[in-house]
Amino acid sequence: MKNIDSHNKFSMDYYQSIIELALGNGYVFCTVDEFIKGGCPDKGHFILRHDVDLKPLTLQQMIDIEIKCGVVSSIYARVAGSNYNVMDYPVFSMLKNAEEKGCEIGLHSNFLEYAMINNVEPLRVLNAEFNLLNCFFDIKGIACHRDINYVYNSLPYVEKNWKQISDMGLQYETYDSRILKSTTYVNEGLNPHLCWRNDSPENVIQTRGSIYLLTHNHWWYTNHPFEA
Ligand SMILES: [Zn+2]
Repeated sequence: MKNIDSHNKFSMDYYQSIIELALGNGYVFCTVDEFIKGGCPDKGHFILRHDVDLKPLTLQQMIDIEIKCGVVSSIYARVAGSNYNVMDYPVFSMLKNAEEKGCEIGLHSNFLEYAMINNVEPLRVLNAEFNLLNCFFDIKGIACHRDINYVYNSLPYVEKNWKQISDMGLQYETYDSRILKSTTYVNEGLNPHLCWRNDSPENVIQTRGSIYLLTHNHWWYTNHPFEA
């Protein structure tokens, strides 16, 4: 049986240990925006990215660890078709506080799916989502969202219509080849249970190459996966 521990280890202690291991190996933590503005260095940089799909308030425990370790992350929140309300009091204040601590807030969206299902214009949905968040946060980037049972994928649409989207005020999308070419992308996946999809962060840290770690807060916990 293949490494059974890896199925059930996404704890806060583990999250903190990854950050501490990277800091001990001289990694510099930065937001996605800082990484791009810094010229996408391919060595020694660590991006912590959160796509917030479900249970938004469970992200706070990850933010608390980042603050304790003195590092920053990039947090992408959903608006249209979201399972949570980004304007809900505790969610909004969590994001506001994170931004004040140096985190970057961005948009996590499948605006194309929302537009197709509701028979409205895709860029109109995206514009509404961007404007809502950008009223309160300094939004620079979009991370395209896909459900496990996805129908439509916004990413090719974003690439094809980037001129109009950048005119709207967005500066990057998170799968920009500049970022992917200069980092090792590490994320969770199901195979069939929860695990690292390809590389583990510990293995990539040994290479000293830049790391782009995407996590989904609803899979991470303090004591057990069902606590929130
Ligand atoms: Zn998502």
